[in-house]
Amino acid sequence: MMVLDCAVIGGGPAGLNAALVLGRSRRKTILFDDNKPRNAVTSESHGFITRDGIDPQEFKRIAQEELSRYPDVSIEKLRVHHIKKENNLFLVETENGEEYYAKKIILATGFKEELPDIPRVKEFYGKSLFSCPFCDGWELRDRPLAVIADDQKAFHMAKVVSNWTNDLIVFTNGNKIHSLEEKELLQSKGISINEKQIATFIGEKGMLEQIQLEDQTTVLREGGFIAAEWKQAASFDSSLEYTLNEQGGIVTDDWQRTNTEGVYACGDTRIAGPSQLIIAAGEGSMAAIAVNAALIEEKFN
Ligand SMILES: Cc1cc2nc3c(=O)[nH]c(=O)nc-3n(C[C@H](O)[C@H](O)[C@H](O)COP(=O)(O)OP(=O)(O)OC[C@H]3O[C@@H](n4cnc5c(N)ncnc54)[C@H](O)[C@@H]3O)c2cc1C
Repeated sequence: MMVLDCAVIGGGPAGLNAALVLGRSRRKTILFDDNKPRNAVTSESHGFITRDGIDPQEFKRIAQEELSRYPDVSIEKLRVHHIKKENNLFLVETENGEEYYAKKIILATGFKEELPDIPRVKEFYGKSLFSCPFCDGWELRDRPLAVIADDQKAFHMAKVVSNWTNDLIVFTNGNKIHSLEEKELLQSKGISINEKQIATFIGEKGMLEQIQLEDQTTVLREGGFIAAEWKQAASFDSSLEYTLNEQGGIVTDDWQRTNTEGVYACGDTRIAGPSQLIIAAGEGSMAAIAVNAALIEEKFN
């Protein structure tokens, strides 16, 4: 059986850039991807220089076209179900039972979001409700906006989003903001707080017009930012044994190495800090360079 230099799991910007650097380094690589990225709900990605505003699927198409120039890289449009460490190699098993051995693994599987359970929320998410103001704040600038988050995240998100609009209301969806100090600070900056439960969102084709509350009153809002729970998009055999951080993200060092030798992680799957295409791609590049460095050391030692 052929042994791959590296199996890259996940074909978002992190995995794609990892595969590019590996292909250019003449490393036998397969990129496995089942094409269920987090940003499938949106039609524009912002903040990636030379690609600002690109459709995420177009971004992926261009990336895959670029990878096709490199004969050592191939793409399998399949989900990986299991990865098991067997001595110094990894056994990778896909959903249809195909098996591959690889010397190194790059996990670039991203995360999944769980939105608060509010009627119609999914119709608006990715169109006028977003999670990251650095990604979508510019498009919503100067509009009447909402921050929808509970006590834990509301204060922080409101401070950040206030950079893009002076007309901001925090909706805690039935939760209380416990800190009087935080409440007063927000109010002193003209940010009001609504602690009623949200009944539903009102608008057409994903464009928010009003937020309807439990008492049937409505508040005019044209968009906003909503806090979601983040979970790993994939989990593998416990023989990989990498450590997770408090948010459930895979812990790595600056070279994207996990604490399991031979396993690297990059992009959203680390759930550490801002989540953006360009950051994921940069980490993918770093992971591939680290894989190369390890393979070179193994050759010369
Ligand atoms: C609504 C919304 C808007 C956004 N807007 C922007 C923006 O404007 N600008 C920006 O920079 N960022 C934006 N983002 C964030 C951006 O989408 C992520 O930061 C980025 O996609 C992370 O890249 P990634 O490669 O780590 O993960 P992903 O892009 O999520 O890719 C992971 C891939 O791995 C695959 N996968 C997972 N498990 C397996 C498995 N077991 N086997 C095979 N494949 C697997 C998935 O199907 C997926 O294709 C937005 C996100 C959302 C939700």
